[in-house]
Amino acid sequence: MNPRTRAQEVAPFFDGTRLALARHLAGLRKSELANNIDRSPSAVTAWEGGAKLPTAANIAELAIGLKVDPWFFAVRGEDVTIIDVAPHFRSLRSTSQVMRDQALAYGQIAVDVASAIEVHAEFPAPQLPEFHVEAGDTVGPDLAARHVRQAWDLDHGPAGHQVRLLETHGVLVVFSPPGAAAIDAYSFAAADRPTVVLNPIKKDYYRQRFDVAHELGHLVMHGEAEPGSKAIEDQAHRFASEFLMPAEEVHDLLPTAMGRSAWTTLFRLKEQWGVSVSALLFRARQLGRLSDVSYRNAMIRMSQQGWRRDEPGAIASIEQPSLMPRSLELLNSVGITADELIAQCRIPSHLFQAVTGRTPIVDATGSPAPSDGQSNLAKAADRHEKRKSPVISLLRPPHATNYVFASPQE
Ligand SMILES: [Zn+2]
Repeated sequence: MNPRTRAQEVAPFFDGTRLALARHLAGLRKSELANNIDRSPSAVTAWEGGAKLPTAANIAELAIGLKVDPWFFAVRGEDVTIIDVAPHFRSLRSTSQVMRDQALAYGQIAVDVASAIEVHAEFPAPQLPEFHVEAGDTVGPDLAARHVRQAWDLDHGPAGHQVRLLETHGVLVVFSPPGAAAIDAYSFAAADRPTVVLNPIKKDYYRQRFDVAHELGHLVMHGEAEPGSKAIEDQAHRFASEFLMPAEEVHDLLPTAMGRSAWTTLFRLKEQWGVSVSALLFRARQLGRLSDVSYRNAMIRMSQQGWRRDEPGAIASIEQPSLMPRSLELLNSVGITADELIAQCRIPSHLFQAVTGRTPIVDATGSPAPSDGQSNLAKAADRHEKRKSPVISLLRPPHATNYVFASPQE
């Protein structure tokens, strides 16, 4: 069926907030979309806000301009577009409004896909302890981390598989799609489904674990807080440090001087606790084990060895989400296919695959970044490139060469 006929069918069901969702996913401003379809920005505003209904011809133009099926714009029972929160982004300064809107829209799609799956399969109910911490409170994050460890029965030792821990307690963990590589991990709590979106660009097991704990900190401490400030970010870091490296347990294990044996100790602790040597060094200074001078010298050594970019570690593969991928496998075994769910959510299939993947999808343009073998120089150039690169539409299929889907496991 051609888009015009489909547009005609959709017209009575058109929902302006779905248009805004599509535009955000495409990474377009209103004026840019208007320009693409040769209409005025005020027309786009009126359609999105519901002040005017687009004609079937308009809907066809919008669908073609945004590269979605016209049915994307039809009203949905579960209205994800009402998720109106400010996600916690690492740096608001380096994240433009268009990028933030796109990231939230992707998160909304993730929540929507999850609720479509949940119609058929049961997910753990969210059990996220709340522990509100005021801005400027330096002790609060430690208390919050201890509170969560206690609530989740992590009394002693390393905190285990971070992604699984969150999923078990009802938090949705998904990878960001290829193309959204410029944004760090982020999180938001909405529609009864706290969500963490991981950026796999680092592809580092130890750093990703810290990212997950950091986002957990935001979800636990910063429900209402204005995101993005340095103070808020520091608190989330502090939370992650205490959550992964409880002061009471690691204090005596951390080195007090940086001789040769100190490095051996740090690399052993790294594997035991699943945290980077950088994080351990930072923690050693934070807990007063290392002096500022020793810490600084250690970091110089880390730079000289190239370890600040590529720290050696025994575990090469990152932690993977399993809640949605495993549910999909189960549903498939009873005859409910991914295609059905895709049709129900009315989203492009590559977005569905990105949201439900066990592993990040890698596209031919190299985003997420290639593996750790790459030189630091190339990585620096890559990062520079990413900062400048325009926002890529998530509605366009990635230059698919390398869909990485792990086979069923566990
Ligand atoms: Zn943060």
